[in-house]
Amino acid sequence: MKKVLILEDEDSIRSFVVINLRRAGFEPVEAATGQAALDALRADPEIRVALLDVMLPDIDGFEVCRRIRAEDKNVGIIILSARGQEMDKITGLVSGADDYVTKPFSTAELTARIDALYRRTGEEPAPVRTDELRQGPFLLNTRTRVLEKNGERIKLTQTEYALMQIFMLNPGTAISREELLSDVWGRDYDGDDKVVDVNIRRLRIKLEEDSTAPQYLSTVWGFGYQWNA
Ligand code: CA
Repeated sequence: MKKVLILEDEDSIRSFVVINLRRAGFEPVEAATGQAALDALRADPEIRVALLDVMLPDIDGFEVCRRIRAEDKNVGIIILSARGQEMDKITGLVSGADDYVTKPFSTAELTARIDALYRRTGEEPAPVRTDELRQGPFLLNTRTRVLEKNGERIKLTQTEYALMQIFMLNPGTAISREELLSDVWGRDYDGDDKVVDVNIRRLRIKLEEDSTAPQYLSTVWGFGYQWNA
């Protein structure tokens, strides 16, 4: 059973999501407070995707997200943001979320996003000729999914790893936002491509000496991004 944590303090919304997750073949684990969600994730390593509401009575969803990321880089995180809260999307992604869904969401949309994330977090490494890609100061091991820079491990989320694998398999090649979106978030992803930009910004902070003057991960204006190492 694919376990999914649902953190939502409003009982009616939580029950609605739970019923629909069950119907879609997931096993929902419920939490009504941020602390309960953190405890549930610690107690049950089989939970691979977490849905986090933002407005909660104790710790807000973004802080829950940051704390999960501090402990576990592998769990997939979807922020449930309120309608019109554009900033929620950005804040959520910056705090380490993989995706966001705006309320009110359709069940089909939510389960499609969870499915895509489940595939990504549980994916076997893509078959490549070698296990190790060495470029400049970077070494990417596609078997262990570990990235090192000058021998030091750089901690990546699964989404960031998926992006890095695409870049390092295609060095010196401009890759469009649409292609990154479709390869990493799935062909059916109907969110906007800001999610790509925010993940690139996060990667730059981790990889570059100066993230405002990127040396490795450059912007191809009006198109996408290019890896040069
Ligand atoms: Ca709430």
